Amino acid sequence: MTTKALETISVDPWDFFLEDDLATEHVERFREQEWPQMLKELKHDYSYSIGEGQEPHWVTPGTAVLYHEVINISYGKEENTGWHPTNPLPIGNAVQLLNYLKKGFRLRANVDALVNVELSETADSAEGDPYEDTPYVIPTAKGQRKFINWDAYRNYCMHRGVAPTLEPPKEILDKMANSEYYCLLHDHVFKSERAAKQHYSYYVARPPRGRGMRHATVEQMKVVKPKPKKTTTKSE
Ligand SMILES: [Zn+2]
Repeated sequence: MTTKALETISVDPWDFFLEDDLATEHVERFREQEWPQMLKELKHDYSYSIGEGQEPHWVTPGTAVLYHEVINISYGKEENTGWHPTNPLPIGNAVQLLNYLKKGFRLRANVDALVNVELSETADSAEGDPYEDTPYVIPTAKGQRKFINWDAYRNYCMHRGVAPTLEPPKEILDKMANSEYYCLLHDHVFKSERAAKQHYSYYVARPPRGRGMRHATVEQMKVVKPKPKKTTTKSE
């Protein structure tokens, strides 16, 4: 690993939002031909240098998912819920992209569009590849997709709205063991059924009250503990 790599931020690759990771020929052609053109135009005509490694999450030729900061207003109170992916937006040329970026949209959550980033997933297994021994691998239409750690996998599940199915690492299992209810997707510990219910209700409720997403049920979030054995550790 070079020192440069340490300074850069890891982000997900451009095809993150593609269903089953299947890039159509049309999207690939658009990326090869139009994207470098857009970068050039942004730089030369608008002095806007997109950070290295930052590329829109194309979903079709000329449309891409960006990120925006979502602020919920309920009962007159504003709550910043952080950066969330947009629906596919029309981004067919440099000006369209520039307009979104000027409005505060980003190519990656939490990274300014001008900052260099590193892709969090690489296709080739170079020597000392941190992905080589990762247990977080899922099958995809293109082969497999590797995640550098549990959180990267969890984020992937979160953005796709799917439940994690891989075995969590020990620190997560420990966290679960110490809680009554636990949301694997959002890494949340709940002290009561009521709290778990609230979390669930928020995610499944229709916007603007909630997020309108699928979510594990309260029953599924209930931590099933092995039958208590006689141990010397503290028990409730
Ligand atoms: Zn959750």
